Amino acid sequence: MTQEPRRSDLVEHVDSWRARPAAQQPEWPDPAALAGVRERLREAVPLVVAAECEQLKYRLGAVARGEAFLLQGGDCAETFADVREDSVRRKVQTLLQMALVLQYAASVPVVKIGRMAGQYAKPRSKPTETRGGLTLPAYRGDAVNGFPFEAAERTPDPDRLLRMHQAASGTINLVRAFTTGGYADLRQAHAWNQDFVARSPVGERYAALATQIDQALNFMRACGADERIQHAVEFYVSHEGLLLEYEEPLVREDPATGRRYATSGHMLWIGERTRDLDGAHVEFFSRIANPVAVKLGPTTDSDTVLRLIDRLDPEREPGRLTFVVRMGAGQVRDRLPELVEKTAAEGAPVAWVSDPMHGNTFEAPSGLKTRRFDDIVDEVKGFFEVHRELGTHPGGVHLEFTGGDVTECVGGGEEVSLDGLSERYESTCDPRLNRTQSLDLAFLVAEMYRE
Ligand code: PEP
Ligand code: MN
Repeated sequence: MTQEPRRSDLVEHVDSWRARPAAQQPEWPDPAALAGVRERLREAVPLVVAAECEQLKYRLGAVARGEAFLLQGGDCAETFADVREDSVRRKVQTLLQMALVLQYAASVPVVKIGRMAGQYAKPRSKPTETRGGLTLPAYRGDAVNGFPFEAAERTPDPDRLLRMHQAASGTINLVRAFTTGGYADLRQAHAWNQDFVARSPVGERYAALATQIDQALNFMRACGADERIQHAVEFYVSHEGLLLEYEEPLVREDPATGRRYATSGHMLWIGERTRDLDGAHVEFFSRIANPVAVKLGPTTDSDTVLRLIDRLDPEREPGRLTFVVRMGAGQVRDRLPELVEKTAAEGAPVAWVSDPMHGNTFEAPSGLKTRRFDDIVDEVKGFFEVHRELGTHPGGVHLEFTGGDVTECVGGGEEVSLDGLSERYESTCDPRLNRTQSLDLAFLVAEMYRE
């Protein structure tokens, strides 16, 4: 009889991060409570399985080779309160509408990944927040503490890691239902165009495109094409793999291959503030087999990029590593070329994706964090220019958007103004594109891709 491996053997490598400095971790007040939570997460059901992660890796390999485009997006920070059918549906719907625009107008297969079902933890620029003389821990996302500025809410609570798992489970269940249960059928493309969006100019433009798709589908049917291929879409989920006390106990070994996967989401990324080469996050990510991404800000040098490739993708596995560039509209044209050139010279099969959100944030006179739609467009443009110049592939976009009619970013077709931001500012963290701004952007990116 073969012996079952002991648990300590299984986690031997995935806990190697503990010997390294882990940035941006909350100060959990009660180590015993945290240990209990970790134990329960070890017993918890995985949210994704290895075969799906491998399938996504295969798709991202196509992105790296220039044969597909990645559309990744969702909230800056999901909240537990937003785990609702309507809210999840609207986000899926927005992403599907944008993907359809890109797919149809740019004639490129689109890989769809939500910033969903796990995006509950946030890195912060300051560990505390002071208001009216009172200093409390900063809000680090619903996975850690509460948003209201009260001492009890802001104290990190490890039980929230269990609620995170529950919220992510509920969300991924809805995502799977929407994307495979008929809702994502291409014949529903008109139905995704609802409420306030349908009445906007970009909504009308989208409706015209959906009509063309209908006609194409009718033509295909008349040709005898198998209609089942349009019935479901492949949709993946991703989040920043920030809280290692959550991620590590959810690592599972794939019995078929013996490889270990983070089962909290299909793809995990390392944020700009935690990508230290000697830090805990890079170490943890080097031990999991999922497709992974790393954010690259304007200060990134090419040596760091090459070392990240060696640490995270030593096998040069297509689709394993994606770089998400977030340099700001003013810097991307200057800073990105060297990184892309050196990576290409190395022959590393990475996918390059533009996050035009995080390098373009500023504070409005009202104190609200915002971004200009025009800066967002300009950064994507700069990203495309760099890749066109070098003959490499602009592989996709990574965005913060929501399905609602929020007023968090200024500009766009509906012209949200600086003064109008407070009307419907709902984000607990960074400003997101609303649905019309998201669709506007999709049309613009499709044009850039075609050029
Ligand atoms: C984010 O994606 O919300 C984020 C914090 O990004 P970055 O790590 O690039 O700053
Ligand atoms: Mn953000």
